Amino acid sequence: MSAEYNAQFAATDIATRAIHAGQEPDPTTGAVVTPIYATSTFKQDGVLGLRGGHDYSRSINPTRTSFDEQLAAVEGAKYALSFSSGLAAIDVLLRATVKPGDNILLGNDVYGGTYRLLSKVFVPWGVGLDVVDITDSKAVEQALAAKHYAYVWVETPSNPLLNITDIALTSQIAHKYGTKVVVDNTFASPALQHPLDDGADAVVYSTTKYIGGHSDVVGGAVVLNDDEVREQVAFLQNAAGAVPSPFDSWLDIRGLKTLALRVQRHSENALKVAQWLESQPSDVIERVWYPGLESHPGHEIAARQMHGGFGGVVSVQLAAGAEAAKRFVDHTRIFTLAESLGGVESLIEVPAAMTHASVAGTTLQVPANLIRISVGIENADDLIADLDQALKAI
Ligand SMILES: *Cc1c(COP(=O)(O)O)cnc(C)c1O
Repeated sequence: MSAEYNAQFAATDIATRAIHAGQEPDPTTGAVVTPIYATSTFKQDGVLGLRGGHDYSRSINPTRTSFDEQLAAVEGAKYALSFSSGLAAIDVLLRATVKPGDNILLGNDVYGGTYRLLSKVFVPWGVGLDVVDITDSKAVEQALAAKHYAYVWVETPSNPLLNITDIALTSQIAHKYGTKVVVDNTFASPALQHPLDDGADAVVYSTTKYIGGHSDVVGGAVVLNDDEVREQVAFLQNAAGAVPSPFDSWLDIRGLKTLALRVQRHSENALKVAQWLESQPSDVIERVWYPGLESHPGHEIAARQMHGGFGGVVSVQLAAGAEAAKRFVDHTRIFTLAESLGGVESLIEVPAAMTHASVAGTTLQVPANLIRISVGIENADDLIADLDQALKAI
């Protein structure tokens, strides 16, 4: 893709960039949609006579480049590098930039797989890991003052409790102590939240979720502005090889084009579902967690930090307990009982038994009666009717 082509869209809105940046019509045929370049290697015109730098698809592939440019543009960042999964992106960003003896400060509510990677792979490798209530800026500052950390790791909204961390404030505090901030922006997506603009040093995504958006691809990305870190990440990406296939990249491209529209609808539906759940009697619904509700402790920060909605994930604790939670998710008809989130279809799950089973017994343990709902883009009244009949069935 040419820099001149992408430059045309620099000043446009996200919705426009998502559809055009990195999507220059194919120079040989004029194909409007980026082809799936299903090729492992590229012809050289004489030794090292590379066409557009293309040598081997672990290092570079035009479909992947197209997605990387599209995502960087949507984020308003200099660089995006895509990976074969969100965890591969997290692994490479950290392994490229930390070494044994460095420390990472982690929020106390994060994706279970992130905690597993850090505690079971990075800690045995010699990296120090401490967990803090990341929403409490005083606790974060105390930890940073006591020990040097390479990174503060923030998820906001967090998975599964939807805790909200003030990115600008956390970055300001961390930078005072020479610590970098990474935001896992998977839940908000670039349609709602721009951590780099708020002061974060890097953003990571599981593109499996809202960016792919259709539950048909597993992928991840690192987004950043720093030239040196970009070089380190690109080096390890090529050296270790966790790259997405051309077809994965093509699915991510197609998903990202409609992200803004989908997330708007996800957010509208989730707010309606959250409000309906909150209106249920307290002997049925113990607590609803959604940053769009005024009852949410992070609502004010979320309203400032997220632009145009609060995302599509709602968590709810059932008064009747853990067994009732399991029965409830087994009785929905439109909501599918499955892990993951961010697709067009509504999903429902019990984190303590499913996505977050790996944090049981740690400081990140989640309540057993918690249900996480990924609200899809179906009709909101149909979704509420389904939850209503499932609640009555338990
Ligand atoms: C799913 C998820 C990940 C991991 O991504 P994969 O694509 O499953 O590897 C990381 N962070 C968050 C917040 C997630 O929801």
